[in-house]
Amino acid sequence: MPQTNPSTSGVRTEASILHVDLDAFYASVEQLENPKLRNSPVVVGGIGTRGVVCAASYEARKFGVRSAMPTAQARKLCPQGTFLVPRMGLYGEFSQRVMAILRDTTPLVEQLSVDEAFLDVASVHRLLGDPEEVGAHLRERVLSEIGLSLSVGIATTKFLAKVASDQAKPNGLLVVHAGGELAFLHPLPIRVLWGVGPKNAEKLQRIGVKTVGDVARVGIAPLVAAVGKAVGTHLFDLANNRDPRPIVTDREAKSIGHEETFGEDIRTRPEIERELFRLIDSVGSRIRKAGLSARTVTLKARYSDFQTVTRSHTLDSGTAVSGVIARTVFALLDQVDHERGLRLVGVHCSNFDDGSGAIQGTLAFGDANELQNSIDERRAEVDRVVDDVRRRFGKDAVQPAARIGMNDRQNPTLAD
Ligand SMILES: [Mg+2]
Repeated sequence: MPQTNPSTSGVRTEASILHVDLDAFYASVEQLENPKLRNSPVVVGGIGTRGVVCAASYEARKFGVRSAMPTAQARKLCPQGTFLVPRMGLYGEFSQRVMAILRDTTPLVEQLSVDEAFLDVASVHRLLGDPEEVGAHLRERVLSEIGLSLSVGIATTKFLAKVASDQAKPNGLLVVHAGGELAFLHPLPIRVLWGVGPKNAEKLQRIGVKTVGDVARVGIAPLVAAVGKAVGTHLFDLANNRDPRPIVTDREAKSIGHEETFGEDIRTRPEIERELFRLIDSVGSRIRKAGLSARTVTLKARYSDFQTVTRSHTLDSGTAVSGVIARTVFALLDQVDHERGLRLVGVHCSNFDDGSGAIQGTLAFGDANELQNSIDERRAEVDRVVDDVRRRFGKDAVQPAARIGMNDRQNPTLAD
């Protein structure tokens, strides 16, 4: 049974974790931008021979179109659909506007991806009402101010809040009240548990485990025998709604990063740099918003055979300057054999201090001379101006130069 004593276990006695998730995000943005597409099947994805679907409107899902499906298959299922190449810059701007509304409600926001976040609303009660009222308020604001539909799940743990928002989709809100967690969770199929993909699902079905309730009832030993110790223990905990993870905001995070998976491998240096620029721009802006500076910059790359490499560099002092992060990342890129083709790139910054050294951090690979310092100070000034203009005139007011030409790219991020 889940523990219930908040003083010793940290388990909440009230459902105050929100998981919010935009519905069919990329497709919804396209429908918002072009009213002719509203109420019609829209598929956003890579259009080359190996292209995959990264978002499908609910109208397209009726035909069986799903994220991560090859675009060619989606075309067969839904020939009347409108097929669009992703416009990542545009989605990024909508994402930032939505996240700004969330952070306007509470600083306790943990952004998971462009279209998903956790919020801890335990402490905003008196101002904004109970968690359900906060969730309803967010849905209303995102719809009226931006025009997108947001689904909300509310529960006592992160895991359950995410399950709840999935069940609430599309365009819904679902609260799983304290005390009712297992009654809600146990009838659901095992695939709602993190860590259950098709392979583990098959192994579990072989021992007669089909629902979350079966996982809880069968006990830990048979689970461990079926799927191994780590996964077995993890599933047993989740099936009992044991998930002690707190909401970790950017301010407290050990690292701030963004990654992007491509439907088709990218391999040319300009193409990769353009992707990295976009990631660096948003990572830098999150670091500055959190009032931090980072000393360690990490580049992550996954090759087409799924081998993953990371390359890190630690600066002499912390930085929040996008130009410094970029210079470091591009130097790290020299250590990656990108001509093999990359399936994913990521930029992560870590090793934070409180931002007092934000303008320094010039020592990307030696050679910190005065000229470099003055360039970095000018870059910091550019960041400040860009952040300020965006704050006052909206996220789309300024774009990094590298975004120009982004709209015709064919390598989408997978996101739902
Ligand atoms: Mg979503």
